[in-house]
Amino acid sequence: MDKREIFVKMASIEERIGDLYKEIGELKDVIVVLMEENAQLLVENQHLRNRLDRKKTGSQTKQKGTSPVAKEKAKKAVVGEGYDNLARLYAEGFHICNVHFGSLRKEGDCLFCLSFLSGGPQK
Ligand SMILES: [Zn+2]
Repeated sequence: MDKREIFVKMASIEERIGDLYKEIGELKDVIVVLMEENAQLLVENQHLRNRLDRKKTGSQTKQKGTSPVAKEKAKKAVVGEGYDNLARLYAEGFHICNVHFGSLRKEGDCLFCLSFLSGGPQK
């Protein structure tokens, strides 16, 4: 292999690496979209589960005649569980604030999310 051949080969490899680099960038964008979609689906799923649980709790209350205090307690447990899920979502790197909900936190902590978290489950 003469020197010119080596140079041509190097140029071709460089070009292929450039293409791969571009492809990796595109895949990274796709992964971000999928992760955000997944986070939003997790929250939506939790909301639906909470609604289902409330419905079940409500019908059980009717059947067994549970006291209003017990009903309120069950409701608070569901709210607490939803709060825990949001806190976990934030810890996993997603926004849980109204401003950027469900999108990936690319720049560390978010003040909107943190103010929501410091409000606690009862608010
Ligand atoms: Zn946020």
